[in-house]
Amino acid sequence: MNLFDFTLNPYALLSLLGLVTNAVVIYLVATSGYQVLTQRLYIAGQIAMVLWSASETLVRLSANPQTANFWYLVGAPGWLFMSPLFLIFIIAYVGKEKFLSSIGNLALLFFPAFLLLFFAWRTNFLVNPDPSLARYTFWGWDIFKLPLFGIFMAWLDILYITSLVLLFQLRAKTEDPVKHKQATFMILGILVPVIVGSFTNGFLPVFKLEVLPLAVPLTTLMSVMISYSILKYKLFIVNPSMVVTNIVKTMNEILIVFNPRHYIDFVNDAVENILGYKKEEVTGKHIKKIVGSQWPDFEKNVLEPIDSGEQVSGVEVNLETSSGEKIPVSFSSSLFKDEKGKIFAEVGVATDIRKTRRLIIDTIAERNKLTVVMQSIIDGVFALDTSGKITLVNPAALKMFNLEKKSITGKKLSDFLIMTDGNQELDYKDLLSRKKLTKDTIILQRNGLKITSSSGKQIFANLTSSAIKEGLEVGLGAIITMSDVSKERELEEMKLDFVSMAAHELRTPITSARGYLSFLQNEVGEKLSEEQKSYLDKAFIASSQLASLVDNLLAVSRIEQGAVKLQVASCDWIKTVKDCVSNFQPLAKEKKIKLSNLSPEKLPLVLVDQFRISEVLSNLLANALNYTKAGGSVSVEAEVENDEVITHIKDTGIGIPEEALPKLFTKFFRVSGILEQGSKGTGLGLYISKAIVEMHHGRIWVESKLGEGSTFSFSIPLIS
Ligand code: ADP
Repeated sequence: MNLFDFTLNPYALLSLLGLVTNAVVIYLVATSGYQVLTQRLYIAGQIAMVLWSASETLVRLSANPQTANFWYLVGAPGWLFMSPLFLIFIIAYVGKEKFLSSIGNLALLFFPAFLLLFFAWRTNFLVNPDPSLARYTFWGWDIFKLPLFGIFMAWLDILYITSLVLLFQLRAKTEDPVKHKQATFMILGILVPVIVGSFTNGFLPVFKLEVLPLAVPLTTLMSVMISYSILKYKLFIVNPSMVVTNIVKTMNEILIVFNPRHYIDFVNDAVENILGYKKEEVTGKHIKKIVGSQWPDFEKNVLEPIDSGEQVSGVEVNLETSSGEKIPVSFSSSLFKDEKGKIFAEVGVATDIRKTRRLIIDTIAERNKLTVVMQSIIDGVFALDTSGKITLVNPAALKMFNLEKKSITGKKLSDFLIMTDGNQELDYKDLLSRKKLTKDTIILQRNGLKITSSSGKQIFANLTSSAIKEGLEVGLGAIITMSDVSKERELEEMKLDFVSMAAHELRTPITSARGYLSFLQNEVGEKLSEEQKSYLDKAFIASSQLASLVDNLLAVSRIEQGAVKLQVASCDWIKTVKDCVSNFQPLAKEKKIKLSNLSPEKLPLVLVDQFRISEVLSNLLANALNYTKAGGSVSVEAEVENDEVITHIKDTGIGIPEEALPKLFTKFFRVSGILEQGSKGTGLGLYISKAIVEMHHGRIWVESKLGEGSTFSFSIPLIS
C-alpha cells in the first residue's frame, strides 16, 4: 500500500485553505499576549482543527481508496476531539472553569471521543476501511461510514448545542453591550457550520447522499470569526485567572507558596527585586534560604502559627537578601487544606516595609524635635483636638498657670482657665477653626487677655490660636500659644500710675502758681515797667502750657488705665459743632483767620459723650488755628455718609510732611522744625482725640499737603 499515492483534486485546496487559516489563527491567538487557560483551551481545539483539515486535504489528494482511508483515520483524533475541546473552551470562557477542575467531568466530556477513536482505529463499527466499500466522488474518495457514525454526529451536535446554551445564558445574563454582541457573534459563528457541516459530513453520507462535505471550510469560518472577536475585543482580558496571574506577576509584595515541610514551591518575580534572588534560585529550596540569620524568630512568629493552622497577619519579621542585607517585611499567610483538613500548601505574602519604617522613624524624629522645642520655649503651648480637648501641653504652660499635666490632659481649656478680654469672657469656640482649611492659618490673636487659672493664678497674656490645614485629618483642632505679658503690663501700669500721680501732684501747685501770677498781672501789672510786665506775661504763658501738659498727661493715663467711661446720650451734632465754632471765633479773629461753619442745618441725632467728643472737635479746631498763618481760613463741615456722621476740619495752614502722617496720632509725636505759633504743643492732643473717637466706635484720619493745608476728619456712627 502506497501512503503517498496522490493526485491533484481541486477540492483538496479548500481543505488546504482551512489548514492554513487555522494554523494562522493559532499563531495569532498564541502571540496575542494573554497566556491564560481560556486561550490555551481555544488553541488546543484549533490544533485538533488543523489535524482534521490536514487529514481531509490528504484524503482528497489520495489517488486510491487505501491511501484515502489511511489519511482519514490519521485525522480521527482531530475530528473526534475538536468538539469536546471546543466545549471546554466555551465552559472556561463563560466563567465556569470550576467545572473543569473535576476529573469526573473531564472524563465525561472526553470518554466518548476516546471510545470513538478506539472504534475508528481498532474496529469497523464507525467506518469500514475496506477499499472495496469506498466510493469515488467528485471531491475524492469517501470512506464507508456505518450507522454509529450518525450517533457520533449526534454526540458532536449535543456538545455544540451545549456550547450554544452556555453562550445564550451568558448573553442573557450580561449587561455589557459589547459582551452581548460578542456572544451573538459566537452563537452565529457556531450555528451555521454545525448545522450545515454535520449534514454534509455526517448525516447525509450515512444515507449515501452525495454532497460536498463543507464542514472544514465552514468550521474554519467559525474559527476565523471567533478568533477575530478574541483578538479585537480581547475576550480573555477579564478572565479571573489571568487577572490573578497578572497580579502575582506584577505585585510589589513577595508571594511564596511553600509546602508543610517548608520547601518553596512557587515564588513570584518580586523576590528578585526585594531579595535579589532569581526565582529559580529559591524554588525547591527550604524557606530558610530567604530568612537567613533571623530563622529562629521567623520560625517562632510565622511558621509555628501557620503550621498549627492559624493565619498570621501583618507579622513584622526580617528576610535576608542574597547579599546578606536584612529586609524588614510584614508577613501574612493563608493555608490550603484538603478535604480532610490536612494542610497541603501554605501561602505567604511579604510586604517590604523599609519605606514605612523610614517614614515612621522620620515621624518619630519630627515629633521628638517638636517635643524638645516645646519643652524649651518659654511661651505656653497647648495642642487641642478638634473638640477642643487638650492633647499636648508644654512645661511652660503648666508653670504659667501652676497646673499639673495629668489634671488637665483630656480636659478643655474652659475647664480650668477663665480668659477675659476687657470685660468680656472669651468664647472658647473661637479658638478652633470652624471650617476645613486650605492653608495653615492663625484663627485668633488677642493681646493682653486676663487669664485666671483654677489654681488661682492670674496672668495677662498674648494669645495666638493657629491651625494647620491637615488638622481635621490628624485630629488637631488648634495650637494655642500664650506669652505671659504680666510683667510688661505691671511695668506699664506702674508707669501710668506714676504719670497719673505726678500729674495729679503737679496740678495743684501749678493751678495756684497760675492763680498768683494772674493776680499779680491784674493787681500790680499797672505799676510794672514794660520789661517787668513782659516777664510776668511769659511766666503766665509758661505756667498755662505746664497746666495744659499736666491735663493732657492726666487724660492720657486715664485713657490707658481704662478709667475713662463714656456717658453717652443722643445729641444734636449740628448744635455741638455750631457752639464749638463760635467758641473759637474770638481766637480766629485775633489771629486774623477766617473761621466758618459749612455744616447743613439739620443732621440725624448721634449717640455720644458730648463733653468728650467736643474735646476732640476743640482739639482739632485749636490745631487748625494754631498751624495756620494770619489771612488763612479754617472751615468745619459735618455730613452724613452711609451710617456715619463725618466731620471735616479743613485749614489752609502749613500742612504736614508726608513722612510724618503715619506717626501723627501716636503719643508725644510732633512734627519737628515747623514754625510754631503761640503756645507750644505737647504732642498728645491727636493721640487723645483718636482714643476718644475710637471709644465711640469711630475713625479719625488726615489728608494733608505741605504748604497747602490739612483736613482732619473723624466719624461717629449714627443711632441705628
Ligand atoms: P500738639 O499739642 O503739638 O498740637 P497734637 O497731637 O495735637 O499735639 O499734634 C501733633 C502734631 O501734629 C503737631 O505738633 C503738629 O506738628 C501736627 N499738626 C496737628 N494738626 C495740624 C494742622 N492742622 N496743621 C499742621 N500740622 C498739624
